[in-house]
Amino acid sequence: MTTNLIFPQLRPSHTKIVATIGPASDTEEMLSKLILAGVDVFRINMAHGGTDQAQTRLDRIRKVSQQLGVTVGVLVDLAGPKMRLGEIPNDVYQCETEIPMKFIRDKITTEPNTFTTTYEPLIDDVNIGDKIMLADGTVALQVAEKNSDSIICTVIQGGTVRSRQGINLPGTKLSIKTLQQADIDNAKWAVGAGVDFLGLSFVRSPEDILELREILVDAAYKNTGFWSDIPHIVAKIEKPEAVERIEEIVDVTDGVMVARGDLGVEFDIAQIAVVQKKIIETCRRKSKPVIVATQMLESMHHQTLPTRAEATDVANAILDGTDACMLSGETAVGEFPLQTVQMMHRIAVETEKVLAERFALTHRPSRTTSVTHAVCDAAVTLADEIDAAMLLVKTQSGKTAMAISNKRCFTLCVGTSSNIRALQRMNLFWGIFPLINVPENPQESLISVIEAGKTTGYLNHGDRIVHVLGIATGSRYRNVLYVHIVD
Ligand code: PGA
Ligand code: MN
Repeated sequence: MTTNLIFPQLRPSHTKIVATIGPASDTEEMLSKLILAGVDVFRINMAHGGTDQAQTRLDRIRKVSQQLGVTVGVLVDLAGPKMRLGEIPNDVYQCETEIPMKFIRDKITTEPNTFTTTYEPLIDDVNIGDKIMLADGTVALQVAEKNSDSIICTVIQGGTVRSRQGINLPGTKLSIKTLQQADIDNAKWAVGAGVDFLGLSFVRSPEDILELREILVDAAYKNTGFWSDIPHIVAKIEKPEAVERIEEIVDVTDGVMVARGDLGVEFDIAQIAVVQKKIIETCRRKSKPVIVATQMLESMHHQTLPTRAEATDVANAILDGTDACMLSGETAVGEFPLQTVQMMHRIAVETEKVLAERFALTHRPSRTTSVTHAVCDAAVTLADEIDAAMLLVKTQSGKTAMAISNKRCFTLCVGTSSNIRALQRMNLFWGIFPLINVPENPQESLISVIEAGKTTGYLNHGDRIVHVLGIATGSRYRNVLYVHIVD
């Protein structure tokens, strides 16, 4: 029997890399280089560009990954209630502590110290004493006076502000819903387009996630007339309200992003490290994949080496237990997208050596009532005890692969599925390497994986393979675990 299986995506790192696409990475050539260098998931940010651009980018990613014989995940990021300044006369204004600032309801301003905003209820929502943060948190205003059509603010921290920059209102209760009409339209497009993950910005409650899921299910049903696969939801944690309700949010979401860009403005930045650790710990405990995002290798926008602090930041996120690290502007608009991915990958490989030692010392499966989790615990322990060369996991929905990933297995874990969407999503699961074109029949699939493994040198005569299967027959779900010895 000959096989066309290839193992190009087997990497020496278990941590997944999410890279944001932009003008710096938008060609087939660059996408292909980035995948080979270690990108597992590409992020398409809907805060810039509409569905036409997103569709073009998605098609390009699918084309390139198919040519390479691999799968990659695609995360489409919904902007949510992101607030921005309107146009500023001359595009830029220097906020000074001596000169009060004004916000008006009108859409146009001619006064330099008077701002407009895209967030219509701003004047109604804020109260006297509330803070308004501009320019990524570098400029801080405080509401001093509230009138029917304007507010007057004192400048606590001065600095340069430009047209259309983001606004953050830490501590203000927003009156609008998290899902805006544009998000709903983009989400419906994403269902039809076969996107793997949908990020939702500025999540505040578990209901936000449930509402989005309902929209996705409805859209999928409308498209196909029956229940079909929908994108997994990634809750972006960037509001204090979300951190307060993190347990409930993690319970209902499919994945989480520690969105440190806005989180670092909405929170006192001094707290950001402990908030990150708390979110990751919650996700690990509840077996949901988590991404750490923003400014991870920021200085690599314009330099080929990161700072010591950035290299340490990536390593620390991995030691905290994150599934994935994300690159934003570094790969979207930076000068060195490829070098940045290579650097992140190298840091991951070095850091995971320590992680493996720590797990060997501390990993004790926690008690669980889930059969899948118990079987996966057993599989990971077994693979370690018999020094298996590979842990092969066959899954329909991807759930068994997610459970194996949660156990942090240091044996090579290969995921197979007849469901291409499940394979694409495995790209976000720590330590799972999805393999395409594997036959459906479990016996044939094992034979072809062994053959491909032998050809590429990953498997040799006498090697042990731990095989875990999650099989759904009708409404019944079974797990099978066995050991195979390569002849
Ligand atoms: P953004 O999300 O880049 O879409 O704002 C990430 C973050 O806030 O960190
Ligand atoms: Mn954000």
